Order: sequence, then structure tokens, then C-alpha cells
Amino acid sequence: MKWSLYIGKLSGIKIFIHWTFLLLIGWISFMNYSMSKDIKQVLISVLFILSVFACIILHEIGHALVAQYFHYKTKDITLLPIGGMARMDELPEKPKEELLVSIAGPVINLLIAAIIYPLMHWFSDVPSLFTTMFVTGENFLFTLYIVNIGLALFNLLPAFPMDGGRIFRAGLSFFMDRLTATNVAVKTGQVMATLFFIVGIFYNPILTVISIFIFLFAQTENDAVRAKYILSNYAVRDIMSKDVNSLSPNDTISDAMKSVLEKNADHFLILENNTVIGTINKKQILKALNTGGVDSTVRSYMNDKVRFLSSDTPMDKIYSEQYFSENAIFPVIENDLLVGIINVSMMDEFIVLKSAKKKLPGLFTKKINSVKT
Ligand SMILES: [Zn+2]
Repeated sequence: MKWSLYIGKLSGIKIFIHWTFLLLIGWISFMNYSMSKDIKQVLISVLFILSVFACIILHEIGHALVAQYFHYKTKDITLLPIGGMARMDELPEKPKEELLVSIAGPVINLLIAAIIYPLMHWFSDVPSLFTTMFVTGENFLFTLYIVNIGLALFNLLPAFPMDGGRIFRAGLSFFMDRLTATNVAVKTGQVMATLFFIVGIFYNPILTVISIFIFLFAQTENDAVRAKYILSNYAVRDIMSKDVNSLSPNDTISDAMKSVLEKNADHFLILENNTVIGTINKKQILKALNTGGVDSTVRSYMNDKVRFLSSDTPMDKIYSEQYFSENAIFPVIENDLLVGIINVSMMDEFIVLKSAKKKLPGLFTKKINSVKT
């Protein structure tokens, strides 16, 4: 993630802190100092925030280590003011694996709470409730204990992207297919988000913001699983375009624009001595035109990193590995011959077409019937 500070490695996983987290520490120091005028109070509150975030990192490490056990690699963990985020190459999909990886985070928070519990009785009198609005030396461990219980319970709420949403889906997946399980889990999460939203309006604006985030994320998760499900029956050759247009690297941008208009083409491979050395799309050509590159060569605007795909590569593999950036164009190869190209918009159109057909079978049959009569 951009604007993140590398702080170290744990079990081979890089850990970053987002710069906004430093703002949070600054804000808490300022608030504590302006209210107490006491440097010791500021230090305790900063130490407390660092302890909370150490617990959040441990929560993420919990997910990462169980994932590692099932051979899923975690790229990195980033600490944001709203919590931790672990990025994995691929998320586990087998119900048992998803269940154990998701539950590991909240379990870590409960374990931390279990370790703090005897310590807080040992070191200090446990306050009956929050008697002061500051974290002090006396209530430090007690507050950290409450925060860990809170983190575990909050993350166990059955709503994506919370761990509870994944645990719920994994549980359902033992009894139904993953697509249906995701649907049920997403709908449940959205009902919860709606309740949060209403409660939040009256009592807590932060809850309202969280509810919107949950609602949108649940929908994204649903779309992603459905897209992958649709793609799982197809290979690159089913979706690629056989319409391959090419340009020479020495053509000018204005030549390229002519080709766009004459051939009504959106994507081009750049060929030099019959070898693909780059790609360019209509959007990039238009951008080059607008930035005064009319007489420049295509070579200076093309993507020069070309990745070839085999025509029999399964589409769901490509989808989960997130090959596609907006401008990427992949030449497709079969028996060492160039047979087509594929890009993200072809994949998106295919998904839309297939899901429309699935949703509206009645409409298609009706049309045929009306021709007959
Ligand atoms: Zn988690």
C-alpha cells in the first residue's frame, strides 16, 4: 500500500504502518496533553495505542500463520487507523481452511485477554467500570483486556469483511455450494449493516460509516464469488477476441488513431520483426493525442512488458491471480501461434452476458416463442 512505513518482518511477512496511523498518535497525544497538561499521561496513552495496535498485528499474524499452514502466502500486513489488513496471494476457499484461517484472528485476541486477565489482578486493582476517561497506569491492563474482548467480538459479527462473515460462509459451505453460501452470508451481513446504520444515526456516527463500508464490501464479495463461479467453466480461448490488430513501433500516434477509426479497433499488439514487443489500447492512444504526442512514435507510449497467456489457461485461475490491470492486453498463444488477445473488459463483458442469461431465462425463451406464433 502507498504511503506506508516498513517496520519489520515477522515469520517472513512484511509489516507496514500507514502514515495516517502516525496522525492518530499525534491527535491522541494532543488531546491527552490539552486535557491533562501531564506528559506522563501523554506517554501512557501513546503506549496504550501502540499496545492495541500490537494486538491487532498479532490478530493478523494469527490469520497469516494458519494460512501459511495450508500453504497460502501472506504478502504483507498493513496497520491502518481502522485496523489491520493482511494481503494474501489467494484466499482459502475450502470450507475447513477458510473457517480455521478466519477464526484464528479473534482466537488470538481471546488468548491475549486470557493472558492479561491474571496479570491485571496481580498488578492493579481492577476498576469496577471505566472510572476515568483517560487510560492510566491503574486501568491500563484492564482497558487492554476489554479492548481485546471487544476486538474478538466485533470481528466475529457475521458480516463481510469481518472474520465472522467468512466463518459464517465457511460454516454454510459444509451444507451448500459456495455461491449459495456466499449469497446467504452477504444478505445476512447487509441486514446487519442496515441495522447498524439505523442505530448509528441515533447513537454513534462511526457505526453509520462502518455500516456503509460493510454493506458495500459485502456486495463486492458477492460479485467476486459469482464472477469466479461463472468463469470456472471457461478457458482463455472461450473469452479472447480473435480480432488481432497490430501496429509497428515506428508508427506515429496519429497513424495509430487512423487505425482506431478505420478498423474500429480498441486494442493493438505492437509487432517488430514478427515479434510482439508491446501493446497499446484506444484509451492510451487518445491520451497520447491529448498530451501533444501526435507525431511521437507508438514505441514511446506502448506497454513494453508483454505477458503471453496459453489459450487453455482456466479463466478462474487468471481471475483469482488478478492478472488484469485496466490497460493490460495479453496476446494468447496456442501451439506456438498467436490466436487472439484478451483484456479485462472482454472478461467483464463476458461475465455480464453470462449472468444476464442466467438471470433472465424467461426473457430469451419468450422471444423465441413470439417468433413462432
Ligand atoms: Zn481478522
